[in-house]
Amino acid sequence: MNITGTHINYYRLCPRKLWLFANEIQMEQTSNIVADGKVIEEESYLQRSEKYTQIQLFHDYNGIPLSGKLDFFDIKNKIIHETKRSNKVEDAHIWQVKFYLWLLQLNDIEAEKGVIEYPKLRKTEEVILKSEDITYLEKAVVEIIGLIHNDRCPPVLNAKICKSCSYYDFCYAQE
Ligand code: SF4
Repeated sequence: MNITGTHINYYRLCPRKLWLFANEIQMEQTSNIVADGKVIEEESYLQRSEKYTQIQLFHDYNGIPLSGKLDFFDIKNKIIHETKRSNKVEDAHIWQVKFYLWLLQLNDIEAEKGVIEYPKLRKTEEVILKSEDITYLEKAVVEIIGLIHNDRCPPVLNAKICKSCSYYDFCYAQE
């Protein structure tokens, strides 16, 4: 299995979400939040498809296959653009984009930064990849492999973010 930006995103959010997703227990298609996000992404795509390049990247990092699909890469200015429907800037989004910046670097493609756009907030967030971020990502992908291949699903978080998670019903069905 390739480790992708989505795995990094979920790794930052919740180990259980990461495990469920990686083990193909997927609820995203039934989530209004995700559906809403897809509309925003599609609208953005129509507006930008002529301006930016879509690229698919792969890299074998010490036997760990990494991949990432960048929908809006501005080759001229060396900027990754991401759109998120969320109504708050999330650390998980930032790490997802850091992962893409790292993947570009591993493929010897120059990138200056990432820009995450939050249409609902009318806000943008710049993302830079620092050397300590690379150290973190190197460790994270190893931990992700260990986590997703573990037979046991991590426990429910009981956190505020659960309320907006697509796995909410699945995780709290017994309560
Ligand atoms: S509902 Fe909570 S515990 Fe369950 S996967 Fe989502 S964030 Fe994790």
